[in-house]
Amino acid sequence: MSASAPIALPYLAAYPQALQAQVRQLLAQPQGAQEWLLRRHPKAHALRTDKALFAYVDALKTSFLRKAGTLHKVVYDNKLHVVRNALGTHTRRSVVQGSRLNTRHEIRIAALFRQAPEAFLRMITVHELAHLREQDHDKAFYALCTHMEPDYHQYEFEVRLYLSHVEAGGARLWGEGSV
Ligand SMILES: [Zn+2]
Repeated sequence: MSASAPIALPYLAAYPQALQAQVRQLLAQPQGAQEWLLRRHPKAHALRTDKALFAYVDALKTSFLRKAGTLHKVVYDNKLHVVRNALGTHTRRSVVQGSRLNTRHEIRIAALFRQAPEAFLRMITVHELAHLREQDHDKAFYALCTHMEPDYHQYEFEVRLYLSHVEAGGARLWGEGSV
């Protein structure tokens, strides 16, 4: 690593230059980002199965978006992050039930979040749930995200820092057998 070749930060491209510079400093230290992330989030969540994930996401939906159709499927997806460069996806399908039209939602969450702190899982869950109501990443969308999780933006930054850490060759954290 030389000073003339700064670490690329594709996951943090939208953040201010000063913050990117701080992240580069952190990533340039051995264990720097790892120690920072583990100090912030020492523990992994215990929601390792799709069934546990569904219950978690459905409970959040019930609290904030009770009327936004039905959650039909919620799964961890191994291919998501790699293939589509997405951390989560949401798809909707309208189905006729008697005289009513019901919307069924399917949410896929990148498998990366299976071994992660609860804050990270919460961030991606809140993001995908917000898409039940708002399709675009606009002001209304982020207002809904921060309504569901006041620290949404902080957690999104930390998720992106973690991705940058892994991209730079750092160890996976929070998993069985890691650290
Ligand atoms: Zn989105």
